Amino acid sequence: MSLYLDYNASAPILKDSADAVIDCLKNVGNPSSVHRSGRKVKAIIENSRQKIASMIGISSNNIIFTSGATEANFLAMNASNNMRAILSSIEHPSVLSQRNDALLIPVDKSGVVSLDQLEKILYNNQSEQMFISVMLVNNETGVIQPIEEIISISKKYNTIIHVDAVQAIGRIPINMNESFEESKIDFMTISSHKIGGPKGVGCLIYKKNSEHLLLPYIKGGGQEHGKRAGTEAVELIAGFGVAADYSSNFYINESKKSRDLLEELCLKSCPNALIIGYNAPRVSNTSSIAFEGVEAENMVIALDLAGYEVSSGSACSSGKVSPSHVLRAMGYPDSVLNSSIRISLCSYLEEDIIKKFVEKISKIVVNLESIKESINASCIS
Ligand code: PMP
Repeated sequence: MSLYLDYNASAPILKDSADAVIDCLKNVGNPSSVHRSGRKVKAIIENSRQKIASMIGISSNNIIFTSGATEANFLAMNASNNMRAILSSIEHPSVLSQRNDALLIPVDKSGVVSLDQLEKILYNNQSEQMFISVMLVNNETGVIQPIEEIISISKKYNTIIHVDAVQAIGRIPINMNESFEESKIDFMTISSHKIGGPKGVGCLIYKKNSEHLLLPYIKGGGQEHGKRAGTEAVELIAGFGVAADYSSNFYINESKKSRDLLEELCLKSCPNALIIGYNAPRVSNTSSIAFEGVEAENMVIALDLAGYEVSSGSACSSGKVSPSHVLRAMGYPDSVLNSSIRISLCSYLEEDIIKKFVEKISKIVVNLESIKESINASCIS
């Protein structure tokens, strides 16, 4: 059995969420049908919508279900058409790839968006309508972004704001309270499978005042307030609702002690270990560690063989060996970009487990370093 340490890629589904999905599969109705069976599944959708709304303290009228956060980000970014797009340089590719013409807000060495640079960009473009997208928590480093400050700077300008909160839900408290309509956030993205719900479902939260900006791109039905046509994935939505109910109690904060011990032991036993974003405010489950000189892909494979599942860079970009754009934006050299792995925990792990894991890491580091040295030596001779 492997130890799964890749919760930021996808959290294992909660038992109650899986049960809700399976139960829901037995229903026959289409939620758009007016008969009893249709109304029954429609009620399941609305019940989940209500649970998600309560999770963040908004009204259920402000939620559109999508096939996941990638689609929700697409919908939000679609609203930025005809506006000057301003994105943080560490956004998820599902945001960044939507606007090649965007102005990028740099981050500092700890991975926090530069507020001075943001203000400068806003000041220089104030004649235009601007669309800002900044994630609340970065998926690779776990660094929490100063959203309150970003909002208060943006208030002075003509801006629409989108927040990708995928890695924040269940990790840090988010409560928009009833003031969402008055708040400066226009759109927010959430995904189910990062909080123990099923994969393939997420939602876009939007302020009623900004609804007119949402252009449906899947057309042909009136579902989801006419913003996203197609019969809803009722079963997945049912599981998402259950996961939302559990999200304030996702046990992730209990992982802090284990994460801190893991980092402390890595720093002690591997002289080349570097913790990314060490001094920045971070969620308690994520550790991005570079073992300089050791290829991250080799490290991930070796750890997998040893029974530990971690990832290199962001999960969405694994499979193709491309260095992390997040670490690049933080100003790290290629040697760090190519050697960083992400370990993301969900709950407290016994000290012994952490110690064994770090022993394994340091053995692998030594082995991979010596293999590299002997390859280098044989190339020279
Ligand atoms: N945004 C962030 C910050 C993410 O971490 C992810 C998933 N890696 C996504 C968006 C995309 O989520 P989904 O898998 O639901 O499409």
